[in-house]
Amino acid sequence: MSRKICLVGIGKIAQDQHVPSITASPDWELAATVSRAGSVGGVQAFDDFDAFLAERPDVDVVSLCLPPVPRFAYAARAIAVGRHVMLEKPPGATLAEVQRLDSMARAAGVTLFASWHSRMAKGVAAAKAFLADKTVTGGHIDWRENVRQWHPGQDWVFEPGGMGVFDPGSNALSILTEVLPQPVHLTGAELGVPGNRQTPIHAELTFTGGITATFDWLKKGEQLWEMTLEAGADRVHLTEGGNACTINGASAALTDLDEYPALYAHLTGLLDRGASDVDLSPMVHVSDAMTLGRRVSVADFAF
Ligand code: NAP
Repeated sequence: MSRKICLVGIGKIAQDQHVPSITASPDWELAATVSRAGSVGGVQAFDDFDAFLAERPDVDVVSLCLPPVPRFAYAARAIAVGRHVMLEKPPGATLAEVQRLDSMARAAGVTLFASWHSRMAKGVAAAKAFLADKTVTGGHIDWRENVRQWHPGQDWVFEPGGMGVFDPGSNALSILTEVLPQPVHLTGAELGVPGNRQTPIHAELTFTGGITATFDWLKKGEQLWEMTLEAGADRVHLTEGGNACTINGASAALTDLDEYPALYAHLTGLLDRGASDVDLSPMVHVSDAMTLGRRVSVADFAF
């Protein structure tokens, strides 16, 4: 039997990924949307979240596709009336607010899923399994994309809490924290911040364990989402945002599902088990970079 779900914030990622993944799955029924402007054909549309919560008690799962800053208020209201909640990444604007949501969900006995879609990329499981019994001795992340393509006109990414290039960069960090057999921590960062904006558009990061990262948001042409991790003579190379993987030059086995269908399959499993999944480790690295990073002023940015 399918489970009813409400999507909140019908913007780019809801339209690109959540709607197609939910409607293609026999496990889910898209029963309602909440959005000030968007809607999905044939699905009951609310423009007020409290009205949805009051009028549709039969829909006990909500998936929040809003930007991080407004998300906490929606999640808190949903948990308070016993709804299960899935959060887009990054799960909140601050670490403390997500920790509060976690406590609230435990107290209410509902599921909270802080999703990290890149962890579901098809090569990540193979990389994790290979590295599980090894010591990583170095590596580099190259995460370069075009903000105008992926966040067209979205000024919120450059406002406080929008995280700038750490919005995509947190995808890389979600993979890193998933596959590393031993944790690392950030030891230095340089953040390029446009003179007319609040958040970085470029970042260079250094971690313990010989791991470095470059995040850039002005990449034209082919987009680059790659990570190489070394364990002595062994080498794991993830490309295509983790959707392809070679281990010592040979192609690794890939998982079947695309990222968002895999997220919703994971959510089904959490609900069946009465469990939650809230891992803040990628966001800890973002927060540390913002705390420790040296700011460099770079050219003004306009969409
Ligand atoms: P978006 O299109 O700018 O925003 C999503 C929706 O959130 C908007 O359509 C808007 O819906 C609602 N919203 C925006 N500001 C709001 C506010 N202050 N209060 C209430 N609702 C507000 O953003 P997006 O690209 O979909 O990204 C949303 C989240 O998904 C982000 O955390 C992002 O990191 C993540 N994500 C994005 C991508 C991508 O490629 N863009 C990929 C993976 C994950 P209404 O105005 O219709 O109410």
